[in-house]
Amino acid sequence: MKQKGSLVVISGFSGVGKGTVIKELMQLHEQYALSVSCTTRAPREGEVDGKDYFFITRDRFEEMIEQEAFFEYALYCDHYYGTPRPFVEKQLEEGRHVLLEIEVQGAMTMKAKCPEAILIFIMPPSGQELINRLCARGTETKEAIAQRVHKAVVEAESIENYEYVVVNDVPSLCAERIHGLVEALQMRTIVNGPFVKEVRGQVIQSAEDF
Ligand code: 5GP
Repeated sequence: MKQKGSLVVISGFSGVGKGTVIKELMQLHEQYALSVSCTTRAPREGEVDGKDYFFITRDRFEEMIEQEAFFEYALYCDHYYGTPRPFVEKQLEEGRHVLLEIEVQGAMTMKAKCPEAILIFIMPPSGQELINRLCARGTETKEAIAQRVHKAVVEAESIENYEYVVVNDVPSLCAERIHGLVEALQMRTIVNGPFVKEVRGQVIQSAEDF
């Protein structure tokens, strides 16, 4: 039975460790592909164009919006972020689970466009632990951190729009919890439509021939 992959939307407060969890997940299990987003924000130290993001200008981003080149996009802290469409479609078709690490507005767009997508919100073990992690990252100014903390307050309002919350206490454990969830959800009828139809047809055919 050849199955299409699942779209796995991963959100969580800035600093919760989404990137590390995703890295673990991809190292542990080969059937995942990570969608690389486009953004208009400047690269942080160590970030590589085409690997962490496609860093593009605002003009180019707006041109791509016009061309409907994004599955979804959002404005977050004054910068555009968007998921390019072709990569996602190809990977799903080839049976890989595609991970989208996106913020809340984009996740809601995906939920509306693609009801079978799996929406996961990664939680810190506690609020204080989130602040500790954000400050420890050391890649941003105090103002930028403050902006992200205030954004987290707004994002916290949307957690109930996600079907699943997974705690990131230890990244490898969090990754395994996500994998267990995705594997279980691959058994949903909604993602097995062609297989159900095929076997039902065979049963009907056998009954007629019997
Ligand atoms: P950062 O600037 O910390 O890399 O990302 C800021 C926020 O943008 C994060 O919450 C991240 O998940 C989100 N983000 C990254 N790529 C995309 C995307 O393609 N679409 C949307 N909607 N959000 C994204």
